[in-house]
Amino acid sequence: MSQFSDKPNLYASVRHSAKLRTRFAPSPTGYLHVGHIRAACEAFDFARAHDGVCLLRIEDIDHTRCTPELTTAIYEDLDWLGFDWPLPVRVQSKHYDEYTAVIEDLRERGLIYRCFKTRKDIAADSINGVYCGRAAPDEAERLSANESFAWRLSMAAAQDALGEAFHHMRYYESGEHPGWHEVNPRPHGDIVLARKDIGTSYHLAVTHDDAAQHISHVVRGTDLVSSTDIHVLLQTLMGWPVPDYHHHALILDEDGEKLSKRRASTAIRELREAGQRRSAVLAMAAHLP
Ligand code: GLU
Repeated sequence: MSQFSDKPNLYASVRHSAKLRTRFAPSPTGYLHVGHIRAACEAFDFARAHDGVCLLRIEDIDHTRCTPELTTAIYEDLDWLGFDWPLPVRVQSKHYDEYTAVIEDLRERGLIYRCFKTRKDIAADSINGVYCGRAAPDEAERLSANESFAWRLSMAAAQDALGEAFHHMRYYESGEHPGWHEVNPRPHGDIVLARKDIGTSYHLAVTHDDAAQHISHVVRGTDLVSSTDIHVLLQTLMGWPVPDYHHHALILDEDGEKLSKRRASTAIRELREAGQRRSAVLAMAAHLP
C-alpha cells in the first residue's frame, strides 16, 4: 500500500544515508479520523520509500483526555487499514520517570523555574503574547502550602547557557519549504515543560522520545512547524541529535482550519461500521485537499 509515493519529486529534498527511522505518534484523545490517516500514510510511506522503518508511538501523557480504550481503538483502526509497525510500541504514559529525570537535569542546570501563576496571571503578565518570568520570590511558602506549579523553561537562562550557539541553531526540512531553517525560539517565551496537572509536556516528551527512539526523520503535519523551534532548542540543551523534519500538508475543513469535527473528520470506525472499504478510506486520506 502506497498512497503518496506515486507523486513526482515528493522526496526530492530528503537527506538520508544510514537506516532511516521515523514515527507516527497519535494522541488517544479521540477516535482516529481521516486527517490522522493522512499523517499515518505520510509517515509510513516516507519510511517505505527510503527503505527505513516507521514506529508507532502512543502520545498519551495527558491523562485528563487520553483513555486506554482510545489507545486500543488506534491499534484496531490502523490494523484494519493494513498498517504494520514494529513491536513493542512506545506508550508515553509508561515513561513519566524518564521525563521527570529530564526536568531534574534542567533544574540542576538552572534552566527551568517553578511557576505558580494561573493562565489569567500569565496573560496579564505577557508582552505581545510572550511571557518571560522567574522563580516566585515566595516560592518556599507556596511549596510548603502545597500549591501546584508548572516548570517553565527560562529562555534567558537557555540563551546564557548556550551563548553564541543559541543564535546558530538550525534544522533541515525536506517537506514544505525544503532546506535549512534557522531556529528562533525567543518568540515562544518561557514555555511550560511540565504542566501543573500532568508533570510533563508535549514538547518535553516528544523530543525525549525522538532521541530515545533514534528517530532520524520526523514526519508530521505543518501545524507543528512552529513547535520545531522549541524542539531544536530542547535537543540542543540536552545534547540530543537534531533529526531532519518533513512537515506535510494537512487536510483542511471548509474554513481552512485543521480538520476537527466536520467534513471528513468522521471517525474511521464509523466509516468501517457504515460499510466503507479500506481502500476508499485510504484514498480519501490521500486525495482530500
Ligand atoms: N501527538 C501529536 C499529535 O497527535 C503529534 C506529535 C508529533 O508528531 O510531533 O498531534
